Amino acid sequence: MRQDIDRTLQGFADACHQILDTAKREKCWNTVKLHHLTYKAVRQATGLKANHVCQAIRRVIGNAKAVKQVHKFRPTSISLDARTFEYKESEQTVGVTLMSGRVRLKLKIGGYQIALLRGQSPTSATLSKSKQGDYSINIAVELDTPPTGKTPKVIGVDLGRRDIATASNGRSWSGDNIPATRDRYSRVRSSVQSKRSRSSRRLLRRLSGRERRYQTWLNHNISKTLVQDAKAAKAALALEDLTGIRESLNQKPRSKTERRRTNNWAFYQLRQFVEYKAAIAGVQVILVPPAYTSQTCHKCLHIHPEQGKSYRNGKSFQCGHCGFEGDADQNAAQMIALLGVVVNQPEIPKLSCSVAPAAPCPRVRGFGGLPPRAGVWGPAPACGGLGAGGKVSVGRMSLFRNPPAA
Ligand SMILES: [Zn+2]
Repeated sequence: MRQDIDRTLQGFADACHQILDTAKREKCWNTVKLHHLTYKAVRQATGLKANHVCQAIRRVIGNAKAVKQVHKFRPTSISLDARTFEYKESEQTVGVTLMSGRVRLKLKIGGYQIALLRGQSPTSATLSKSKQGDYSINIAVELDTPPTGKTPKVIGVDLGRRDIATASNGRSWSGDNIPATRDRYSRVRSSVQSKRSRSSRRLLRRLSGRERRYQTWLNHNISKTLVQDAKAAKAALALEDLTGIRESLNQKPRSKTERRRTNNWAFYQLRQFVEYKAAIAGVQVILVPPAYTSQTCHKCLHIHPEQGKSYRNGKSFQCGHCGFEGDADQNAAQMIALLGVVVNQPEIPKLSCSVAPAAPCPRVRGFGGLPPRAGVWGPAPACGGLGAGGKVSVGRMSLFRNPPAA
């Protein structure tokens, strides 16, 4: 089996090289014309199936358009189409046409991917081989995500400040009540770390793997609940736009929290999960500027007038202007929701500080008009990355773990 796949991958790469040579020589980058120029010769030279050659032509032209200089095609992947690929839901297998004929490969996939593939008849996929020699397949599916229409309701979500996530609809996942798992890990970890033997290093690696898997599971859960809530309430989700924070903050001294929020894979992953699940569910995601969200009172939009001071004190928030008192993360989530509404509907005039000119609070003015900084306040692209109703890749899926020797 491996040999058959490898031979086909090699044939595909050879075909791409041959087609590229012709395209360069003839200065021809049109799919139909290039097909006439190369099809017969390539099929004869490589022994590939008809549709493999068609896909090779597409691959060459696609690559040429994507990068100016195409150098090399490695025998590590092949594009498949409706004639060379088929997904069978009842068996969780894929049929792939190789040079030697059609083979059936078992998919090793999880519930999420199975759910995405449910009822689908995908017609486009890429079979790849990793450096380690594992095979995987990337299947493109069409998703009918309902158009993300403008929704006036917005649920603000504060991610990874003090708690893991806090939403303005009252939900929160605190770092503390993760059922003792964190503690257990850190206890074991510190006892292991003090030993420093070879076996303890191994144990540590295994622990971190388990911890990672646990965090991933948790992130799936949190993001699922948030998206379900939003969908049920016909609301959009507002998140802070943290892109670019990493760069701009590297210059300045940063707080521990900020570092955690931007450099930590777990929070990055949670954001990613929220964004893609929202895209699939047709829930709009609005990105809002992160400045001051944690320090501004969501009731009166004031921040502490003195530089370096904040109404926020750890877990609690106490506004010195209107007297609002409450949970700091909850306040931030409300603030993000408010900003989300503004970003979503620029026609709503302003979110501004209600203070009289006699007692200005200078830093709050940033919230006054639109936009304080170019490019930051524009209506955020709905659903980062994934457009509504577009093609979504199911992601890499491993094929058979221990393939039978051919
Ligand atoms: Zn206030």
